[in-house]
Amino acid sequence: MELVHEPGAFRAACDAARKAGRRVGLVPTMGALHAGHLALVDAAAEAGADFRVVTIFVNPLQFGEGEDLDRYPRTLEADLEACRTRGVDLVFAPAPGAMYPPGFQTHVQVGELTERLEGEHRPGHFQGVTTVVTKLFLLTGPSVAVFGRKDYQQWRIVERMARDLDIPVEVLGHPIVREADGLALSSRNRYLSEDERERALGLARGLHAAAQAWAAGTREAETLVEVARGPIEERVDRIDYVAVVDPETLLPGAGVLQRGLVVVAAHVGATRLIDNHELGVDTPPPVEL
Ligand code: AMP
Repeated sequence: MELVHEPGAFRAACDAARKAGRRVGLVPTMGALHAGHLALVDAAAEAGADFRVVTIFVNPLQFGEGEDLDRYPRTLEADLEACRTRGVDLVFAPAPGAMYPPGFQTHVQVGELTERLEGEHRPGHFQGVTTVVTKLFLLTGPSVAVFGRKDYQQWRIVERMARDLDIPVEVLGHPIVREADGLALSSRNRYLSEDERERALGLARGLHAAAQAWAAGTREAETLVEVARGPIEERVDRIDYVAVVDPETLLPGAGVLQRGLVVVAAHVGATRLIDNHELGVDTPPPVEL
């Protein structure tokens, strides 16, 4: 496995792989890797990538003021070991100054899809994401890029952006990887105390309750939201939103739904967590709690 820190060296390594006939798969991350990230690496192979690239970059552009940029976990050595074990070919771990040198002033902005949900609560966040992902796409030239549905809105936005800008990459959204008790894996779970870890389960419980209601025939968005909200508000400190939206447009669901996406963002102690669950598709619900 090769490790590079400079964009130029990274581009050269990806170019060489493509010239050698390899199919490049990209998995962008902010590091502090867990089984959710590593599932994306496996998914890249399943999608036919035989040169798998993981990028590890805590992207300052996507953090707002007062967010956790400074305390975000940085565990490069462990991350490299995990990548090595998983058969990753190339890791790109740039310093912020290498991605955004002095004078940097260009940003990529996707429209409507970025305005609701996370976009409403984290102004500028998605512009930071789409800017860095565009840079990574242009440096890597991947055939396929794998994102997690844990950040469902992010996945949809990147998919939209690639289509709108004719970036020749297949953007895949991998299902959420959860702990046995239903908690969605997240680098931010490391922040949680034992009590907070327990209360964080409120999110999965709310999603599970909505999935159960859906299975029992409930199809009204407002009812599903109320069902999901119950177990969440019992446990978390503050809810940013609980909503049922259309899985493609992310607009609020209305009337009798044929499918839906329950999304939640909430604070447990000083940690902000997000989770979601698709209704009306075959994804198994967050496990019985
Ligand atoms: P992050 O390092 O948090 O920026 O995440 C990097 C990628 O891993 C993103 O595409 C995330 O959606 C994805 N990811 C993070 N946690 C999970 C999870 N529990 N299941 C599936 N994908 C995940």
